[in-house]
Amino acid sequence: MVFDDLSPDLADFARALVDAAGAAGLQPRVTSTLRTRSQQARLYRGFLANPRRAYPVAPPGYSAHEYGEAFDLVVSPMEALADVGYTWQQWGGGWDGADAVHFELPGASDRARQKGREQEGKSPFLVELASSLPFGLPLSLVLDFLGIPASARKSITPEQEEYLRSITLRSGLK
Ligand SMILES: [Zn+2]
Repeated sequence: MVFDDLSPDLADFARALVDAAGAAGLQPRVTSTLRTRSQQARLYRGFLANPRRAYPVAPPGYSAHEYGEAFDLVVSPMEALADVGYTWQQWGGGWDGADAVHFELPGASDRARQKGREQEGKSPFLVELASSLPFGLPLSLVLDFLGIPASARKSITPEQEEYLRSITLRSGLK
């Protein structure tokens, strides 16, 4: 079962949520549980290439999925995710309508961001890209280089911008 990869604190509650959604006739389907670093990096590159997709993607190292503390769930109709999310919150779990498919342990995304910051430098994602750029390049040009259209930049979360900026700064860019 997919939930076996999750934190033991989360797995039983995740199963119970899927059971409850199924009993309510919502045809629940789990679309993501634990992700490796490289899986997260691939997802994030896809997000950068197409930031208008429906749901946000954290940079590699920064996702609660990489620490087994989150899973993604879709139901039918998708609007019912709000009810499922409310149930999850009532159980003490973490859920936010801005990423409605995402269910996590309380505080999981905050912990993941903290771990991501701590691991900066050990996971040189995008450093290779950024290091090939000339010095002194403005962030906007770095974003151009990364293929993020100006019209889509408002889709980038503050964490993602912070991450990109930190990499460009560490690489000597401005
Ligand atoms: Zn998720």
